[in-house]
Amino acid sequence: MVRSPALPEGRARADKARRTLSIFGATGSIGRSTADVVLQHGDAFDVEVITAQSRVDELAETAVQLGARLAVIGDATRLADLRERLAGTGIAVAAGPGAIVEAASRPVDLAVAAIVGAAGLEPTLAAIDAGADIALANKECMVCAGALFNRRAAAAAVRVLPVDSEHDAIFQSLEANNLRAVERITITASGGPFRTATLDEMRGATPAQALKHPRWAMGPKISIDSATMMNKGLELIEAHHLFDIESARLDVLVHPQSIVHGFVTYADGSVIAQLGAADMRIPISHCLNWPRRLETATPRLDLAAVGTLTFEKPDLERFPALSIARAALENGDWATNILNAANEVAVAAFLDGAIEFLEIAATVEAVLDRATATVGGTVLDTVETVLALDGEGRRLAAERIEFRGRRAG
Ligand code: NAD
Ligand code: MG
Repeated sequence: MVRSPALPEGRARADKARRTLSIFGATGSIGRSTADVVLQHGDAFDVEVITAQSRVDELAETAVQLGARLAVIGDATRLADLRERLAGTGIAVAAGPGAIVEAASRPVDLAVAAIVGAAGLEPTLAAIDAGADIALANKECMVCAGALFNRRAAAAAVRVLPVDSEHDAIFQSLEANNLRAVERITITASGGPFRTATLDEMRGATPAQALKHPRWAMGPKISIDSATMMNKGLELIEAHHLFDIESARLDVLVHPQSIVHGFVTYADGSVIAQLGAADMRIPISHCLNWPRRLETATPRLDLAAVGTLTFEKPDLERFPALSIARAALENGDWATNILNAANEVAVAAFLDGAIEFLEIAATVEAVLDRATATVGGTVLDTVETVLALDGEGRRLAAERIEFRGRRAG
């Protein structure tokens, strides 16, 4: 039987008229959309903490707009700046990665996990331990620590509500239905900027071309993940952990219009899908407000104007990241942890101009091959083991990139 994020039941808190909320990664693409949703319903939320890594001005401005109690900047060298910007507002300030984790342990009804990458793991786990339901955008923390993440959420009896649009679509398609009768779960993919590109064109792709997503405006890391389709691979892994469904019953379908975000096929042949404009404020609002639904200032779907919805199978030859991620999912948490770490390093190297576009997936694959012999099967039962393995994945990726760079130079 698959699992629905609506479980575990029995906590009336989700129905409170006014919810306390913290936003981790408030200056990013998801963070800003979250602030937008919160601002639209000023009387529905009390903002406790917001955090950012380095953008002091945006952090301070958002803290004032949202009336947050505490603003935390990850880069400790910016603390004086932040303090100056917030002087006289009554908003407390703090800095450094430890301060972010500490802020995450302040009790709130809901924590929005919108930090990018495995860096979001410790704050998200701290929020879970403090009893907050999680609105999860930060898929990497699920990919690097899957089972451990779920165990911690279950132990604290908190809900993990998926902000990722495809997963929110599945969440919605599961609601009020018989979980025993779920046959398959399908998440859609836009296909990214290179959906119709040849391998040769992809080989020469620049960061600017790869960052230009046809449907969604997102942060740089997930934009590159969308171009390689690693994003969809990470999302398969995320879906496996969120819905407790095995790889064999999880499908990816390319749908360039990004209108149908995901669907569930039931045993009787019925298919329940969620549709909507490509605007993250819709799934964010769904998670922030669930089980109620509040108005959002998002474009309404006009299907007559859209006209045609098309679907195609993903091309695994041009987008090997998808098969690499699926194989990692089938190999277990150690493999998805390494996959994520190597991918984070490779994406950063591509954005820095250190490797070519096709080398992103090649790096991840090579690192997984090497890691199989040395750390394959590692059991991730503590945060320390998760972070140590993540470090090893990063080390192997950096080593390969440096080695190949030296050979080329
Ligand atoms: P982004 O780069 O726009 O924002 C990232 C945020 O995290 C920023 O506030 C930044 O200050 C903070 N941050 C970065 N590194 C940090 C660190 N080391 N420690 C603490 N904070 C740090 O990214 P985004 O596009 O908003 O994506 C955030 C997460 O949501 C990612 O995991 C992404 O996969 C996921 N997601 C994003 C979208 C989208 O539409 N943007 C959709 C689905 C899922
Ligand atoms: Mg998504």
